[in-house]
Amino acid sequence: MRKKSLRLTISLRFALIVLAVIALISVVSNVLINRQFEGYVARQQKLEADRIAQNVSSQYDSDAEGWNVDYIHGMGMYASEDGFFMKLYDRDGNVLWDAENHEMRLYNDTIWSINLLQKEVSPGCKGEWETSRYDLEHAGAVVGYLDVKYYQACSCCMNENEFQFLEALNRILAVIAAISLVGAVLMGMLLSNSIVKPISRVVETTQKISGGEYNTRIQENVQTRELNELTSAVNQMAGSLAEQEVLRKRLTSDVAHELRTPVANISSYIEMMIDGALEPSPDRLQSCYDELQRLSGLISDLERLRQVENEDLTLEKTDVDLRKLAQAALRNFESQLREKNLDGRISGDTSVVPADRDRIMQVVTNLLSNAIKYSSEGGFVQVTVKDTKDSGVICVEDNGIGIAEEDLGRIFERFYRTDKSRNRKTGGAGVGLTIVKAIVQAHKGTVTVESEVGRGSKFVVTLPKRTEAM
Ligand code: ADP
Repeated sequence: MRKKSLRLTISLRFALIVLAVIALISVVSNVLINRQFEGYVARQQKLEADRIAQNVSSQYDSDAEGWNVDYIHGMGMYASEDGFFMKLYDRDGNVLWDAENHEMRLYNDTIWSINLLQKEVSPGCKGEWETSRYDLEHAGAVVGYLDVKYYQACSCCMNENEFQFLEALNRILAVIAAISLVGAVLMGMLLSNSIVKPISRVVETTQKISGGEYNTRIQENVQTRELNELTSAVNQMAGSLAEQEVLRKRLTSDVAHELRTPVANISSYIEMMIDGALEPSPDRLQSCYDELQRLSGLISDLERLRQVENEDLTLEKTDVDLRKLAQAALRNFESQLREKNLDGRISGDTSVVPADRDRIMQVVTNLLSNAIKYSSEGGFVQVTVKDTKDSGVICVEDNGIGIAEEDLGRIFERFYRTDKSRNRKTGGAGVGLTIVKAIVQAHKGTVTVESEVGRGSKFVVTLPKRTEAM
């Protein structure tokens, strides 16, 4: 099924809301106005009945001690024409004049027109006959009684004026509904434009990114916070994909570069030995062996990286004494320290943390190896172990070449090597610190670095004592 566009959906929802609001307003206003009319009409009818009673009571002839029936007949006729039917009794309750008898035709006509109105307008609803009784008094004494009967229409059987008013109101509401509907659709389109445009840009950009155009970015500055976050998230994603792409390409060229020299050296040696140009002396064979060692070191680096980056890093945790571990690691570098005339020192507390001993050994080994690699002759390599309430800390510090500020944020990335280290042909593939970071993170710990070019570097690894709670 073809999906509805966002623009259409928003416009339709807007129109729907407007329709619902107008419908609600019209229902509520109709009901309220009906009620008002009902009350108003009832009050008017009662006032009219009161006025009739007032007029009738003035027709008592005190001299004759009787009612002026001729006048009353005239009054009764007029009242009947207005829908008020009188019934006059003398003080003993005898009927003196009754509209139902005298104005039979008018009475029936009124009933007929009321019935017609009900049938046509609102078949379901009925008004009711209301009779108001008045005690007619003269000189303080009751001289008779008057019943005034009139039809009290319910709100749904209103007279023509009332209908016209409501009809006009409903017409106005219909016009308002039509105008607001058009307005709502236009507003919906306008509003949706500001949402749809950036979303379309996001879709377009992500499609380009998925097609490999990692340098595409969304330039527009969007005012809505969430949309702004969306566009910057896409830009960030494109940025990190571009970076990954650069790293991937660099990996290929790095690996090729790393392989080329040893392979070329070995081939030329062996070629010459086959040709008889060179004797296969132990020195030459040792050279070939060294180159092969470099190659196998690179392969193990890549293998280790694959392991930690594929997240199949299973930790076999035991209680590890970080100070003892650091001591053992430093001992392994004794000959290299001596070679470079470096002062290897260890200080600090005993700190026991739950950790995978071999992996943490790898961490300290990588840090020490870098500290030695990037130190100038006669420097020092200092390992300090600290114990805190929640964690064990290992610092590996040197006073070597240091790292430039712009490189600090990137040295933990795969295959990232600063130009300086590249020039020095240190031989590392730029994965040592990536492995360090992955192992430390698997232990829910942190690794940070402080460094200054020419003054040295300090790597701080913090390992938590309770990893479960984290
Ligand atoms: P590499 O195999 O090149 O040593 P790493 O991942 O271990 O790779 O280190 C990445 C880069 O960080 C190194 O190439 C080097 O430039 C820099 N670096 C790491 N440790 C140090 C240090 N102690 N002193 C100076 N630079 C360092």
